[in-house]
Amino acid sequence: MTDGLSIPRPGEPGGPWLEVGDRVFTKRYRFFDQQIGVVLGRDAALVIDTRLTHRQAREILDDLRDLCSPRVGIVVNTHGHYDHAFGNRVFRPAVIWGHERCRTMILETGEAQRARVTTELPDLADDLAAVELDPPDRTFTDRAVLDLGGREIELAYLGRGHTDNDIVIRVPDADVLCAGDLLENGAPAEFGDGYPLDWPATAEAILALTGDRTVVVPGHGDHAGRAFVEASLAGFRDVAALARRVAAGELDLEAALAIGPWPGEPSREPLERGLAQLRGELDGTGAA
Ligand SMILES: [Zn+2]
Repeated sequence: MTDGLSIPRPGEPGGPWLEVGDRVFTKRYRFFDQQIGVVLGRDAALVIDTRLTHRQAREILDDLRDLCSPRVGIVVNTHGHYDHAFGNRVFRPAVIWGHERCRTMILETGEAQRARVTTELPDLADDLAAVELDPPDRTFTDRAVLDLGGREIELAYLGRGHTDNDIVIRVPDADVLCAGDLLENGAPAEFGDGYPLDWPATAEAILALTGDRTVVVPGHGDHAGRAFVEASLAGFRDVAALARRVAAGELDLEAALAIGPWPGEPSREPLERGLAQLRGELDGTGAA
């Protein structure tokens, strides 16, 4: 983190673009400590996630000039949350890719997300009101391979976790994996729309795609490697196991909070959401 006096370096919040792999760049925006990714192809750029207002999205476009980048031909939404997709409109006429339920999430919950975030961030009320919701027009179910002018980009749905529509983006020739909010670095994972019983298997699938040299880019916080994925997976397993113990009557919720992966209150929502899933309240899948 910076103290406001020193100039941020590549990879720091507010810093310039960092080349994390061959012609794969990330930039950590101070707002929400969000990671935006850019993959450069021969004649077009691919942008991963679009931030939460058109003003913030235009900031990405302005910053892209630092890369002397070609036009943005493809946008990918890692999932349908406002801070990853509300800026989509600014990137048209690019095509926008996402999981089929990412599109559904934006269409069905976009206005509710706008209302909630406007309450939480009143300073951004005008900018949020100006957002034109523009969900992905190119969707897939399990896997898609995009041709970015001689480079292949893989989109993969690995299971439910942070939402029911998170995907990972892999750039195989650069050994970079962007995980969206399936992984967060430096802050507890966000379970508000999450599936705590599914998340461990999804994180295992990410780990299976992660080699010793793979650069892993989370949705928020610093990029990292395989050890970070392993540590995150351990936390998700803890949440699922603790929720099962509470549901079985072995522990009460307060005792579980004290030994959760994020001790105290930060573990409350993950555990309560896990208990809801065990009760079958999330799509009736809790019996698994
Ligand atoms: Zn999210």
